[in-house]
Amino acid sequence: MKSAPSDQQFLLDVASLDMRIERAEQARKNPPQAGRVNELIAQRNEQGRALIDRTNARDEVKTELARVESDIDIAKKRQERDRQRLGQTAIARDAQALESEIDALAARIDGLETSELELMESLQAAEKAVVEQQAALDETTAEGQRVSGEGKAAMQALVDELEALKRDRGAVVSRLPEQLFADYMRIAKRTTGAALFQHGTCGGCHMALSRSDLAVLKGTADDEVAHCPECGCILVRTAESGL
Ligand SMILES: [Zn+2]
Repeated sequence: MKSAPSDQQFLLDVASLDMRIERAEQARKNPPQAGRVNELIAQRNEQGRALIDRTNARDEVKTELARVESDIDIAKKRQERDRQRLGQTAIARDAQALESEIDALAARIDGLETSELELMESLQAAEKAVVEQQAALDETTAEGQRVSGEGKAAMQALVDELEALKRDRGAVVSRLPEQLFADYMRIAKRTTGAALFQHGTCGGCHMALSRSDLAVLKGTADDEVAHCPECGCILVRTAESGL
């Protein structure tokens, strides 16, 4: 096929644009952030479940503490009432009974207050555990939002890049003879459509041409479209080809 050397050289631009389009399409299919985002979603779910567990544990301690405090309150009121009665009674047997109940209540209050202190300590630890878990969850959420935002920005950048590349490609292709472009497209389906011939080597498959193939290429007119005997791509010859 005949084609002006300048037109053949445009094929190098098309091939370069096609390579960049291919790379951008691949990057769009496999966004690097997607894996991390999924990891963070799983981590967040796990941390959310742990937060519920810790919150429940804290609430249980709170309920228990409230129960103990209420018991202390009841016992103290009872003790106070007993003391008042004791001050009012003149019957020795009643007084004895009241005194022994006051003592029993004092022992009970003492025991309950020990439990109260222990529960207050447990509650403090449980509160701390909830706060820590909430902080870990917030951190994961923030990282998830950041990575996801980066992913969206990267995706938009790729969409913009692809749009620009395709526009550039369209502009170059519009200047190419139809037949030459058709030949390029036919080859580009399976390998590089066109590549620069340089240093005795095909820029498409990077194979050095044999001595006899080189002689054939040298004998091929500049306006004749040459193909690589190895990969079949259009071998574009320029001033840099050293032929
Ligand atoms: Zn080749």
